[in-house]
Amino acid sequence: MEDCIFCKIIKGEIPSYKVAETGEAYAFLDIGPLSAGHTLVLPKKHIRNIFEADPKDLYPVLDLVQKIAVLMKEKLPCDGVNILINNGEAAGQSVHHCHWHIIPRFSGDGYKFPPAGSLSKEQAEEILGKLK
Ligand code: AMP
Ligand code: ZN
Repeated sequence: MEDCIFCKIIKGEIPSYKVAETGEAYAFLDIGPLSAGHTLVLPKKHIRNIFEADPKDLYPVLDLVQKIAVLMKEKLPCDGVNILINNGEAAGQSVHHCHWHIIPRFSGDGYKFPPAGSLSKEQAEEILGKLK
């Protein structure tokens, strides 16, 4: 896709700190890291988000995500990783070329997700009624 910054990175038209590359996937360091080693992994094919993806195009990307997570744990080293994809602007997606964030975590780094809410039986039944 012409105006996609990540397509340009994959093609080498924009520089990146490449971590790894396969036939189907590309991984590079996030320029605005949430922790040291924060890496993005994406399909070489331009896919906007998970809603529009053919799952077959995602499997090879997930292979590379897993390999890099293992590599980070051994080599950075880190104690854990958070892996996430933002899908849609409401979820914080700013670059519309589907990508996994792999965020290394270090014991005692202090980062906390917002506190968990609670789930009533009524809410659970209502949600399951919609999703099943
Ligand atoms: P998201 O908000 O999930 O769409 O994530 C986009 C990510 O891409 C952000 O974490 C940015 O820091 C990162 N990013 C944007 N442009 C570049 C770039 N040229 N090189 C590396 N990372 C980038
Ligand atoms: Zn793209």
